[in-house]
Amino acid sequence: MQLTIVGTGYVGLVSGTCFADTGNDVVCLDIDEGKIERMRRGESPIYEPGLDDLLERNLAAGRLTFTSDREQAYSNPDFIFICVGTPSDEMGRADLKYVLAVAADIGTALEAQGPVEPGTPGPIVVVKSTVPVGTNDKVRAAISSHTSKPFSMASNPEFLKEGAAIHDFYKPDRVVVGCDEERTGSQLRRLYEPYVRQGNPILVMDIRSAEMVKYASNAMLATKISFINEIASLCEAFGAEIGMVRKGMCSDKRIGNQFLYPGLGYGGSCFPKDVLACISMGEESDTPARLLEAVHLVNQKQRIRFIGKIDEHFSGEVAGLKFAIWGLAFKPRTDDMREAPSLDIIRWLLERGASVCAFDPVARERAAECVQGDITFADNDFDALDGAAALVICTEWPEFRRPDFDEMRRRMAGNVIFDGRNIYSLPLMREHGFSYYSVGRRPQLS
Ligand code: NAD
Repeated sequence: MQLTIVGTGYVGLVSGTCFADTGNDVVCLDIDEGKIERMRRGESPIYEPGLDDLLERNLAAGRLTFTSDREQAYSNPDFIFICVGTPSDEMGRADLKYVLAVAADIGTALEAQGPVEPGTPGPIVVVKSTVPVGTNDKVRAAISSHTSKPFSMASNPEFLKEGAAIHDFYKPDRVVVGCDEERTGSQLRRLYEPYVRQGNPILVMDIRSAEMVKYASNAMLATKISFINEIASLCEAFGAEIGMVRKGMCSDKRIGNQFLYPGLGYGGSCFPKDVLACISMGEESDTPARLLEAVHLVNQKQRIRFIGKIDEHFSGEVAGLKFAIWGLAFKPRTDDMREAPSLDIIRWLLERGASVCAFDPVARERAAECVQGDITFADNDFDALDGAAALVICTEWPEFRRPDFDEMRRRMAGNVIFDGRNIYSLPLMREHGFSYYSVGRRPQLS
């Protein structure tokens, strides 16, 4: 099948490459010409495990092409996937300007094409971006305002996780398709069949429900994170230990143990904006999303609480001290810095006159674009420690889990670790003589 993917970010590039890998002809369109040039050379503009090989293979096979030329991209595909960003606007609503600009482009391109034979169905325009309920109607109207040529609409929210995106695309828990024509549903089923060979479902439903599934899923996951973080705060206040509480609680099969880890709160390009978008949908419809308002507040407070621990330990006097930061991206195995908790912590330290030396295995370049001031980036985790008063762990990369603690002590000027991901046990920290602050456990001073 002929596919056009519009927007080559984390979702568009992964989807386009994986669709090409099962034999489809895929054209990826982006307005960022620099990005297009890099991808034509086989260079992925994002870090995503496994993507480079897949990109190279499908480029070489001629199934995957990249362009910034709208006319070329929109000439006769079976499917057009809209994968552009939907960031929060200043009111917290999902900003649809990129999605609607693409809709206008599609309408204009369809209109410019020659006459169509009667009965020809036209392309299926698939909204893969995460959008508020009702957006497909807006996209349909925006396209129709530029053309009377036929096309169909579908919603196909994406559930991949950065850092495991190729795996998730190839083995999705489910594929959700929203449509209002039988043909659209069966065409999308055919496209996705190679990815659900182990029997995971392709759920075909109405468009509005499909749009809602994505928000409901992200809102639920964000709620789990804020829930466990709130319990962690109570543990700290009352001297309980969140690790034990988690185990006791999660042994109940009704609760389960996934996505219930205390930490610095959720970040990234999805949960923060999708929770806000749900809250906005509630406000617009006079159906206040009280639970999600609390989820958002707890999440914001989580970073502030953690920063408070640093502030308190140093009695408000961090100016002139050097801090080592391990991990910058909002989670391991990605270079995505959007809404990363590390940024709030680093900015706070720099504003108060501390200096920072940071290490992240893949996010250094992107992080450097996000922060200015007295910050340097180390080539490895240990170099970041030299002369540091304290180490702050912001991302749980596996390589941080079992470092040489004696070497750490030798390199650091101080002996304090602020661990925002609870990657060490209290006995381990005691054994190596560190003062240790974590989440949901009382500080252990050495
Ligand atoms: P992104 O910001 O990484 O990429 C968006 C791309 O769209 C950019 O390369 C941009 O240049 C391009 N673009 C903007 N306007 C364009 C236009 N008119 N024509 C062509 N290209 C254009 O975004 P992302 O992280 O891939 O997210 C895309 C959507 O998917 C969002 O709605 C997001 O919520 C959703 N989503 C993201 C993830 C994720 O993990 N990142 C997962 C599931 C769903």
